[in-house]
Amino acid sequence: MERSLLTRPGIRLSRRVTELRVSPTLAVMNRAQELIAKGVDVVDLGPGEPDFPTPVSVCEAGKRAIDRGQTKYTANQGTKALRDAIAGRYNRRYGTSLTSENVIAGTGGKQELFNVILALVEEGDEVIIPSPFWVSFPDQVQFAGGRPVLARISGERQFRPAFRDIEAVATDRTRGVIINSPCNPTGAVIAEGELRRIVEWCASRDCFLIFDETYEFFVYDGAEHASAARWINEYPDTVIVVNSMSKTFAMTGWRLGYAIAHRDVVGAANKIQSHSTSNPSSISQAAALEAITGDNDADVRRMWAAYAERREWLIPAINSIDGLCCAHPDGAFYIFPEVKAFFGKKGIHDSQSFADYLLDEARVAVVPGGAFGSDDHVRISYATSMERLREGVRRIEAALAKL
Ligand code: PLP
Repeated sequence: MERSLLTRPGIRLSRRVTELRVSPTLAVMNRAQELIAKGVDVVDLGPGEPDFPTPVSVCEAGKRAIDRGQTKYTANQGTKALRDAIAGRYNRRYGTSLTSENVIAGTGGKQELFNVILALVEEGDEVIIPSPFWVSFPDQVQFAGGRPVLARISGERQFRPAFRDIEAVATDRTRGVIINSPCNPTGAVIAEGELRRIVEWCASRDCFLIFDETYEFFVYDGAEHASAARWINEYPDTVIVVNSMSKTFAMTGWRLGYAIAHRDVVGAANKIQSHSTSNPSSISQAAALEAITGDNDADVRRMWAAYAERREWLIPAINSIDGLCCAHPDGAFYIFPEVKAFFGKKGIHDSQSFADYLLDEARVAVVPGGAFGSDDHVRISYATSMERLREGVRRIEAALAKL
């Protein structure tokens, strides 16, 4: 049969896009979803999103926005009310003197990261990214014409990045550094002293520091989240903070994130945004305003407590399985166990074939660490119920015992 004109191969695409990888975390989730759609009972430990509903008060604020007709374009960079609320929250927390001019809200933290990277990175600029890394950092840098330079962080140090890791890979082409803490996929939380040294070093070399604190609320065991926002007044030309409503308030589908930076960086990001999406959804902005200014602490604490309990159970349970070895990360809702003891068995030779084996043999979905820069590991999310976690671990243990 003749191929449809619409599926015939050979379309000429831009070099920019052919060099991009499809988000590898999505590829695994898609395979698991296909099986689930066929009725297969898959324990999905892949998702990078909370398994909790968005708090009721936040949903109500979204509904009210619709009822009141707040369904039109807003200011491109987000409503002044929302940006004031975000600036105010940081000012109260960190003693900064941010105004709405230092804030841009967009369609997810991902968009603001992209805007900021596009605004700052020139062709050939090097940007240092600790590895393991969140999947989009290197591709966004590359898309902007820059060169991602990975700073390898050892699992023996619980994957906590240190200043010396960054300094070791710097060159005279280094333009900036991206730090994500708590980290997706490792859960590592950077120590305040190390972060301060990185900020000071960036400032002394006229480099930027993009600090992604998407998981800021999810730290455990008395660990403290150190935010680079603390130094934004001192180093306004250096520090850029990116944050998101997605994880803290279980608002992944609302698509609302923001960046905080020097007015000129915000202005540049705003220009880019004006030619792509324009403002984030007016309804999501109303909901985000309620999330930030309303009394939602109890909801966030409840989610935190559930993650803390699961983590407490999960880490020893994974470590008790022969061949699996897992650091004890302080934050986020992921663990990143090493799986290389299984390489060489039944065709398993990397994180992808390990994840494929678990999906085929145990009907458990995990994300291969290769997606995050480490092929010796897989990412397991505990943003799923205790019951499913127990079932998942039981199945993993049984499948690995056959190897
Ligand atoms: N940064 C990190 C480290 C993430 O894990 C994610 C989402 O998974 C984001 C940013 C982007 O989140 P969103 O675009 O949903 O705000």
